[in-house]
Amino acid sequence: MSVFDELIGQQRVVETVLDAARGTGMTHAWLFTGPPGSGRSVAARAFAAALQCTADEPGCGVCAGCHTVLAGTHADVEFVRPQGLSLGVKEARELVSRAALSPSGAGWHVLVIEDADRLTEGAANVLLKAIEEPAARTIWLLCVPSAQDLVVTIRSRCRVVALRTPPIDAVATMLQSRDGVDEATATFAARVSAGHIGRARRLATDKAARDRRAAVLRIPSALSDVGACLEAADELVKSVNAEATELTTELDEAETASLREAFGEGASATGLGRGQGGAALTRGASRAASSALKELEGRQKSRATRTSRDAFDRALTDLAGFYRDVLVLQLNSNIEVANADREAELRALAGNSAPESTLRRLDAILACRELLDANANPLLALESLMVQLRAG
Ligand SMILES: [Zn+2]
Repeated sequence: MSVFDELIGQQRVVETVLDAARGTGMTHAWLFTGPPGSGRSVAARAFAAALQCTADEPGCGVCAGCHTVLAGTHADVEFVRPQGLSLGVKEARELVSRAALSPSGAGWHVLVIEDADRLTEGAANVLLKAIEEPAARTIWLLCVPSAQDLVVTIRSRCRVVALRTPPIDAVATMLQSRDGVDEATATFAARVSAGHIGRARRLATDKAARDRRAAVLRIPSALSDVGACLEAADELVKSVNAEATELTTELDEAETASLREAFGEGASATGLGRGQGGAALTRGASRAASSALKELEGRQKSRATRTSRDAFDRALTDLAGFYRDVLVLQLNSNIEVANADREAELRALAGNSAPESTLRRLDAILACRELLDANANPLLALESLMVQLRAG
């Protein structure tokens, strides 16, 4: 066992960070790049563990150092996951002041920023100063889809570690050995996810995710008239909202309850402002409580927006994958289709439409994604998409 076990098909990355952990080519700022689902943050976490490992061979996976880093409880390793749409100046300042602290142990103080592409411009500037003049034992690990996602001033100070899309058979093997998924399901999930490990795992282990994908892939054949287009858009919006609500509600409730508790109120009570035992909080404490609650609500709202945007993104990715397969068949290329379980529908659509219209459909999906990113009304954006998909 080693901390690199979950890194699939990334031998060069493993070698690079292992060398660094052994002392060759070590530097204060690292950039982990790679397509979504390739394992950027998994690689960064494994590297952080290897840096705290106490075994002779770094990254043993079993010593206290490795173990606590992987569990997220190591005192000198902090993971930052922007949960909203962006990571702002205030959070960046707090992070930078923590980064200036010396590690509590003898090793490195490691800060891992997942989704560093969500840093606002101001936050990136704050971070830049810390990366330009790093504390002696502080290491920054930033994860982004591609190096271009970060301002060049930061990028140029980082050593880049590039992950590739993992091979499909390697993902399938991992799903079987680690998640105990049967061979057929593992192969299916790895293939339709085109090497996106998180998606493959979700499809392999979660029936609701498989059902959602099936519903999305039924759309192209169902767009018989404008009424059907509007209905498909409506159903997709409802399904995405349900998925997003399911993902956030429980988390929101737990956070709100623990905040109320922190301010001396039982989780079951309603309204803030009364301390433990029913005594009224002082006016100052009460104000602090309600402002903290407001701040939490703001963060939760931002996270909800991101969660639902991510869910739309998954649905549109599935839809684009379907039309990409149609194009593969129309062009008679020797590439295997990803959605092999939909071959009949793919062949039907490939046979009665032209490649040009498939390309227009793919463009329409891309345009819809951009609209959603720009905060467009989802229902309107999807209705327009469905009408364009029908027209071809
Ligand atoms: Zn270890």
